[in-house]
Amino acid sequence: MNKQEYLLAIDKEIQKADSIVILRHELPDPDAIGSQIGLKKIIEATYPNKTVYALGEMNDDLAYIGTMDSISQEVFDASLIIVNDTANTPRIDSPYEVNPSEVIKIDHHPDRDVYGKISYVDTTASSTSEILCQFVFSENSPWKVNEEVANALYAGIVGDTGRFLYPATTTVTFEMVSKLLEFPVKISEIAYHMITNPVSVSRLAGYIYQNMEISENGVAITILSQEQLKEFGVEEHQTHGVISLPSTVEGVHCWCLFVEQPDGTYRCNLRSKGPIVNEIAANHGGGGHPLASGAVVKSLEEVHQMSEELNESSKKFLASLNK
Ligand code: AMP
Repeated sequence: MNKQEYLLAIDKEIQKADSIVILRHELPDPDAIGSQIGLKKIIEATYPNKTVYALGEMNDDLAYIGTMDSISQEVFDASLIIVNDTANTPRIDSPYEVNPSEVIKIDHHPDRDVYGKISYVDTTASSTSEILCQFVFSENSPWKVNEEVANALYAGIVGDTGRFLYPATTTVTFEMVSKLLEFPVKISEIAYHMITNPVSVSRLAGYIYQNMEISENGVAITILSQEQLKEFGVEEHQTHGVISLPSTVEGVHCWCLFVEQPDGTYRCNLRSKGPIVNEIAANHGGGGHPLASGAVVKSLEEVHQMSEELNESSKKFLASLNK
């Protein structure tokens, strides 16, 4: 099936349903929420008689994009379920059990679990929000777009491209953004929401710049313990605001933030400007993009092991540059 056929197949399922639930991954980022709220608003604009719910746990810092709904199990069971931006089923954030073979999946991450009665995955898209733009702006699209849709999808694209910094940003990205900007999109407001941190997180940023360990192969490692998070007064989810910091340090090619969890495991956020990191994440039960991945490792020992693997990957990358 081509893109247009996928759009029509998804639209046909939406037309058949009275009630639609849109889910996305846990620990959401702007693209998860932007694509979720964007699709909700698209369906509401296109089919005013249908009821659309966006579900999942969310923190206040993304509420500028939109807020979550709550519904009963009964309504959930009677709804068509669409899952955005989620490569593997364990990461689907849902208050009720989901049957993965019954959902519609829309994603730009490499498939980790192939799931869904319809699964549209385009890894060339910068974000799931960009995929929705391509659907809504395609010729003869059945879907409608309005100011609310445009603001949510714009926030998703800006979030996942790191404000158009990452290589996933393409001519299509800018084409879609230029179409979104035909609506009154709050560009500055959205950007400020993304770059503004509480004082506590800003102080943690200072700590990371001071204390990250940089290996001779350009791998920057930061390990944060539960105790340190308490000292800084930073909640676990807020550490997402400091993941990208080492990217601005000269000579750093890839980096990882390890955050200790209450159960003693470590959440790992791997990022790179060249060395491939998703294979390393996958070695430890995680996954993601070649240049942005994540995993959860069991112990400090595994943290050091993963750091060593990153070092090897960076070493190979540097050797390939010198060939
Ligand atoms: P994060 O570091 O949490 O911002 O995630 C970066 C990317 O890595 C996400 O887009 C996910 O696709 C992937 N990812 C993060 N954590 C995991 C995990 N535990 N398992 C699989 N993939 C993950």
